[in-house]
Amino acid sequence: MTTTASRRGRKGARPVRRPAPVGSGGPTPEAKRRTARILRQLEESTPEARVELSHRNPLELLIATILSAQCTDQRVNQVTPQLFARYRRAEDYAQADRTELESLIRPTGFFKSKARNIMACAQALVGRFQGKVPAGMEELTSLSGVGRKTANVILGACFGQPAVVVDTHVKRVANRLRLASTEDPEKIESALQQLIPPHRWTQGSQRLLLHGRYVCLARAPRCEHCPLYRLCDWPGKAPR
Ligand code: SF4
Repeated sequence: MTTTASRRGRKGARPVRRPAPVGSGGPTPEAKRRTARILRQLEESTPEARVELSHRNPLELLIATILSAQCTDQRVNQVTPQLFARYRRAEDYAQADRTELESLIRPTGFFKSKARNIMACAQALVGRFQGKVPAGMEELTSLSGVGRKTANVILGACFGQPAVVVDTHVKRVANRLRLASTEDPEKIESALQQLIPPHRWTQGSQRLLLHGRYVCLARAPRCEHCPLYRLCDWPGKAPR
């Protein structure tokens, strides 16, 4: 999250004017070229841009993504081997013993609401989608606990559809890099969709996500190691 302090910038940092990246008529060619340069740099530094939640099929990724709310992927990956061994099909989650499910997912936090969402989601999969994870945004977001972020994760990683994932890291990085100037995830998704060609949406947003997770950290960004240092004019950027 961008804090008031981070917006103000660090002591000594040169204030930089921050023009809006996307005007009412859409992004300028220069904004698109700059975004392409950013993504090229990230591609060089992060050639592998895969979803870090362990999974073997769309159902497992759906469950893992629900569990990842307010939790690290690392913690989710510690829990899912046992969970996926116990429940293999949507029917298994739909008929689960809630207490047992809660105890298996407890380390991911908010385990009661997550168990409720997982069971309701699985019941909808069984009742409306023959137990399969649907491959459409509208169908996915009709499921309990599934918002646009989760749906885009599934569509991009499992169904090969161009999908821009906006999580807390993408939100922060997109704003710092002037790819967006809003805290609203849907508006950021739309801004990135306009700046990035569709065939690069999935990998591009995943690279922004990984950049935020490992380099452009919320409180202490690792600017000294950042491959985007020259392209970044965020006022809070640490001097090299
Ligand atoms: S230079 Fe610093 S603030 Fe800018 S993108 Fe890199 S890590 Fe983030």
